[in-house]
Parts: sequence; C-alpha cells; structure tokens
Amino acid sequence: MIKIISISLSPAEAAEERSIKKAISAELALSAKRITGYNIQKRSIDARARQAKVILQLEVFIDQKVQLPQAFDPQLRDVSHAPHVVIVGAGPAGLFAALRLINLGIKPIIIERGKDVRSRRRDLAAMNKEGIVNPESNYCFGEGGAGTYSDGKLYTRSTKRGNVQRILQLFHHFGAEENILYEAHPHIGTNKLPQIITAIREQIIACGAEVHFNKKLTDIVLDRDNITAVKTADGDTIACSTVILATGHSARDVFSLLHAKNILVEAKPFALGVRIEHPQQLIDQAQYHCSVRDAYLPPASYSLVSQEQGRGVFSFCMCPGGIIAPAATAPGEIVVNGWSPSKRNNPFANSGTVVAVDEKDFVAYGFTGPLAGMYYQQMVEQKAFKVGGGNLVAPAQRMIDFTEDKISSTLPACSYLPGVATASIRDVLPAEVHAALKKAMHSFGKKMKGYYTNDALLVATESRTSSPVRIPRDKETLQHPQINGLYPCAEGAGYAGGIVSAAIDGERIAELIAAKMFMSA
Ligand SMILES: Cc1cc2nc3c(=O)[nH]c(=O)nc-3n(C[C@H](O)[C@H](O)[C@H](O)COP(=O)(O)OP(=O)(O)OC[C@H]3O[C@@H](n4cnc5c(N)ncnc54)[C@H](O)[C@@H]3O)c2cc1C
Repeated sequence: MIKIISISLSPAEAAEERSIKKAISAELALSAKRITGYNIQKRSIDARARQAKVILQLEVFIDQKVQLPQAFDPQLRDVSHAPHVVIVGAGPAGLFAALRLINLGIKPIIIERGKDVRSRRRDLAAMNKEGIVNPESNYCFGEGGAGTYSDGKLYTRSTKRGNVQRILQLFHHFGAEENILYEAHPHIGTNKLPQIITAIREQIIACGAEVHFNKKLTDIVLDRDNITAVKTADGDTIACSTVILATGHSARDVFSLLHAKNILVEAKPFALGVRIEHPQQLIDQAQYHCSVRDAYLPPASYSLVSQEQGRGVFSFCMCPGGIIAPAATAPGEIVVNGWSPSKRNNPFANSGTVVAVDEKDFVAYGFTGPLAGMYYQQMVEQKAFKVGGGNLVAPAQRMIDFTEDKISSTLPACSYLPGVATASIRDVLPAEVHAALKKAMHSFGKKMKGYYTNDALLVATESRTSSPVRIPRDKETLQHPQINGLYPCAEGAGYAGGIVSAAIDGERIAELIAAKMFMSA
C-alpha cells in the first residue's frame, strides 16, 4: 500500500532517517516494521512559531517494495543532419531551448558573445580584484548567461507558464543535487552551476548541434519581413530562417540594433534601488526567533514588500550566506547583484531592494521612446560609478544614516569585493526612488524585527532586475509581430525573470518552432 502523508518534525529529526520513520509510524498508527520506505515529495520550513519545524510531504510504502521515483530521460537525439535554428545567447533560455529543439529533432546553432565558463572566470576575477570590466565577458555575458555565476535559486512564481518540474529534472540530470526536486526553495549555488552548464553544452555538442563562443550578433539580415541570416562581429554570416533571440536584459546593443532597424521594441517598467547587506546572524535571529541558529536549519532568508508613495518597493533575489557581486557589463557603470555558494556559509545576507519605475519616470529625466528605460537605467549606473570614485568601488551608506540623510562616518565589513566607499545614495538614485526606499526601510523594520539597523549596509545600485525594454511578440505564435522567424525570448525580451522562467520560455518557443517546422514540412 502507498500513502501520501505530511509530517512536521524538528530540524534535527528531519535530518535523520530513523526519526522520520518513527514519525511516519506514529502518524499512520502502524508498526515501524510495516513501513518499508518513503520518498520525499516536498520539504519546507515553517518558522512562524518559536520553534521552527520542517514539513515533509512523503510517499510512504507499507508492506510492499519501495518504488523509486521514475528516472528522468531527456530523450536527446542526433540532430547533425536535421534542419537548423539559430539561438542567440547561451543563457538558461538559449540552453534549454537548445535541449528542447534537440529533443524534438531540430539542430540548434548557438552563438554566444562571451566565453566558455572556464575562460570567463578570469574576467570575473579581474572585475573583483582590479575593477576591470570586459564588455563581452562578465557576470551577465558568457556561457550560461547571467545564470552561470548567479545564485542558482530555482524558484519561480511562473508555475502556470510551463513545466517547472521538467526544468528541475533537467538540472538534476546534468549534475544538480537531487534535493532540488523536492525542496520548497531549491538552490544550486554559484560553485556548482559552472559544471552543470558545461555538462549541458557538452551534451548539446554530442548531439551534433553547434555552440560558438566569442560570436556576437551584430545584424539581422531580412528579405522584406523574413529573416534570411544573422551577421556576427567576426565577419561571419549564418544563413537561417528562424532565430531565437535570447540575449538577456543587459544586451543594450541588441535593443539598439532592433530599434535602428525599425523592428518594434517598447519601453518597459522595471525596478531599481540598492542591494542591502545584513549580518546573516541578525536575519537568522529575526526569522528563527533565536539567538543562535539551529545547526540543522539553513541560513534564514526574507521576502519583503510594501507600497510607498504609490510605488511598489520589494526585496528581490535574497541571498542568505551570500556575496554582493559586480554585475556591470560596460566600463564606467556600477551594477550590483548577489550570489551564494551551495552551503550559503558566508557571514552576510543580502537582497536587492528595489522600487518600481515606469515611463513617467523616464520622461521626467528627458528620456523618451522605446529605449527610454534603458537610458534611465544607464544614467543611474553611471552616477553610481562616479559617486563611488571609479574602479567599480560602490557607493554605500548604513541603513539608518540613509534614512536620516547622514553620510556614514564608518562602514561595516561588506562582502562586495571591489570595495565600497561611504557616500550619499541620494546622489545616485532618482529622487522618487530614493524617497520611496527611505520609507520602505521603516516599513520593513516594522515587519521584521532587527531589520532596521545601522549594522545593515545599502550598496548602490541594483538596476538590472528585469529588462527595461520589451520586444513584442504574438501571443499565439510567440513570433515578433513584424518579422517572420524572429522569436524574442525570455528575460531580455521581457517575458521571464529568473533562471527557471527563462528556461521555461526557451522550451516553449522551441516547441512552437518544432510544431511549425514539422507542420509545414
Ligand atoms: C549575480 C546574479 C545572481 C542571480 N541569481 C539568480 C537566482 O538565484 N535565481 C534566478 O532565478 N535568477 C538569478 N539571476 C538572474 C538570472 O541569471 C537571469 O534571470 C537568467 O539568466 C536570464 O536568462 P536568459 O537566458 O533570458 O538571459 P541571460 O542569462 O542574460 O543570457 C543571455 C545571453 O545572451 C548573450 N548575448 C547577449 N547579447 C548577445 C549578442 N549580441 N550576441 C550573442 N550573444 C549575446 C549573453 O552573453 C548571455 O550569455 C541572477 C543574476 C545575476 C547576474
């Protein structure tokens, strides 16, 4: 017999098979001998009460052989001689679109402006140690896209938009730990992502598809409304009738290219603000109601949202035990983001804390037209660079000093490797963003004990939360409304936010392309 049950255990008990079995037997009022085994279907933490509990949803086997979950097979085949599709960008969207195309019998040719994972590492070191930005190879550009050296949190709100579980299974298939399949908040960690991305690329090539690094799209060749080829910076022209444009939210040259060619793009609201770093211990104390975190509990996280002066303010991409990373894609700009290793064992907790902005804000600074949001975003990033004093040193202010408009006389230790400089963040952020953020600090302090403290540091600026430009597409076909064969995809086009939703969007487009190709064949 098989039963699905839910049990609540202390963190220590939940880490031990014997105590789990004991709890199952108590829950089902059955002798432990009759319980032959179990599979974990879901694991979450309930920290609302004084003692945090781990909630396990289990598939329990009674008096019968344990059935292991069915092994996942991505069903990839040889596509060396199949019709081809060009994918621009090897981020999560591009890579998962490629896997799906292969699965459906189409040969993807991926072109990626950046370098392979291993070579990319040197450029990240140059950013962190010397403040040097390579505009083709950084935290956003290169194999695996912004996803490779990201935090690797794999949760998404977009459950309706596709098969989240399939994406998780693919990550597991390519090397992620099994627990991502059942954790309520699955996380891979920056240290583990590069191997997984490499394994995906090796599989794509083994199937007869192509992956080209250092190959930047510079033009799209059209015959009236149809794509006939793409051109790359190295002088190559690749003939093709179908292009998946998965270039991410930082490919400003791609937005400019489309706009210059009169291919419709639109300004899109996004959000910007700062990254806030607290000591992790303080977040643990607030969330787990304790002085020292239980060794069996993961470093605590938070998610905060408020409405201030008619604007949404929210925490974003929270990284417990994490590091603040320099995520600029061009010299002369400061962009911060965050990541954490799989163990989340750094002493800091950071999150983006951002304010919604839209076309009205762009216009107020003199930016109009489809690229207005992009220029507004760039303006703030360049101000941050200037105020920081150069070399990717980021402007920073203690939290209470920020709300009281005082320059901090000292700064606490900070995980951001290029360094922070004491400054007024008022000099970086647009006035309306600054004002809303100030109010939000008070609101968040009321929601979470210990949050509002001068031990927390605000680092400017978190500006690449989502794309400031939308590349429109038809709701049914997902093609650009003006150009046959052009498929704007995922985060850069404004249809995804995060690794999983980008991967889902890539898969979805691949499926539609395959349906169209084989229907017309
Ligand atoms: C530090 C950091 C931490 C993050 N943490 C998380 C997290 O924990 N969880 C989460 O869900 N998300 C996280 N994100 C966001 C996540 O990485 C992105 O949402 C996701 O990668 C978007 O996928 P994408 O494929 O749409 O675009 P991208 O990943 O941006 O990939 C686009 C690719 O296109 C390439 N490209 C651009 N222009 C061209 C061109 N002209 N020619 C050829 N190639 C081009 C780029 O080099 C890049 O490789 C993080 C991001 C960063 C930077």
